[in-house]
Amino acid sequence: MKKTFLTKEQVCEIAKTYPTPFHIYDEKGIRENARRLKEAFSWNKGYKEFFAVKATPNPYLMKILREEGIGADCSSMSELLLSEAAGLGEGEIMFSSNETPAGEFTKAKSMGAYINLDDITHIDFLNNECGVPETVCMRFNPGGIYELENGIMDNPGDAKYGCTPDQMVEGYKKLMALGVKNFGIHSFLVSNTIAPDYYPTLARTLFELAVRLKEETGAHISFINLSGGIGIPYRPEENEVDIMAVGQGVKKVFDEVLVPAGLGDVKIFTELGRYMMGPYGALVVKAIHEKHIYKEYIGVDACAVNLMRPAMYRAYHHITVLGKENEPADHVYDVVGSLCENNDKFAIDRALPKIDIGDYLYIHDTGAHGYAMGYNYNGKLKSAELLLREDGSVKLIRRAETTSDYFRTFDFDDLMKPYIK
Ligand SMILES: *Cc1c(COP(=O)(O)O)cnc(C)c1O
Repeated sequence: MKKTFLTKEQVCEIAKTYPTPFHIYDEKGIRENARRLKEAFSWNKGYKEFFAVKATPNPYLMKILREEGIGADCSSMSELLLSEAAGLGEGEIMFSSNETPAGEFTKAKSMGAYINLDDITHIDFLNNECGVPETVCMRFNPGGIYELENGIMDNPGDAKYGCTPDQMVEGYKKLMALGVKNFGIHSFLVSNTIAPDYYPTLARTLFELAVRLKEETGAHISFINLSGGIGIPYRPEENEVDIMAVGQGVKKVFDEVLVPAGLGDVKIFTELGRYMMGPYGALVVKAIHEKHIYKEYIGVDACAVNLMRPAMYRAYHHITVLGKENEPADHVYDVVGSLCENNDKFAIDRALPKIDIGDYLYIHDTGAHGYAMGYNYNGKLKSAELLLREDGSVKLIRRAETTSDYFRTFDFDDLMKPYIK
């Protein structure tokens, strides 16, 4: 059974100040998980996690992670600015962008971020824009099909990211000629996998490439970034990734491949998003309608604007009816939002206890790629984000959007002025 980090009583209390729907994050869970991850990689002296900001772009959460020694992985100007606001600077930011707009490399460089080039042609783009920094990372794409023990996982040959092996060699040489002293290697091949061999398998691919790059170019390889992709158990029958075993799996490959090649001082970086935050966020909604037609529907006060994953990927998010944790799941519902889109369903044919109007539904695992993916379709507004602190108190870390916010971009003219406060 999946656990909630809030009880019905707590939600009733919180809702007096912050009405549903809201996303809420569990500070204790975030911190404990961050410490476990660091422990798992503590064998590597230079290890650092750079939280993928796109997963949960909230500077208050980024500050908590920063207190745990975690940096940020950015890929846009806004994400760089959020990192700056969270107090992150020199050596604490990866800039893993692609199709990078003009001006963003300059900002990243000025903040002392590690710039990760998605393509060989970006070398000239970067150099023309702001000159190359002393350390540069290049993103790798091995092509073909990427297989793990449990079968085919993904198709990098079809992905827009990264450079071919030969381009990595050529790019390193070009960057060295421009004066770059230290190099990084980055690759992101599989998303949301709970397969325990993902990181170790990816590590072997990247470590072997590092050896080749060192031999063929003489470049000083400073770090290898295993990027994101470690998944979380969204379904109750799935198991959590054993992060200690993953850390040890990477260490084994490190000792086998890098150490004998004289690369034992290479720093391991990660830029996890989902794994850092996913389980420690929930979307709390209220049942406001029930409908009995060809199927049984429960309408809630949120919609895909608040959590797009079910609509977009048919993703499973577990739902707990708060206060009814121990009641039998003897009703089958579609739990739906208010968009004029038939895919706006948080759950389809889900066995749940009998839901009454006014019940609070706790949608699990919305801490990553949850609020962040939201949009404003149908003029729906984005919810507040709250933080459940370690002492049990609740702090507002983003207020709910208002219609005024939604109309703000009409402020160049008088037409909508009465609607913008
Ligand atoms: C999205 C992304 C991540 C984080 O992915 P998760 O699946 O959330 O771990 C890391 N690095 C890059 C470059 C990304 O685009």
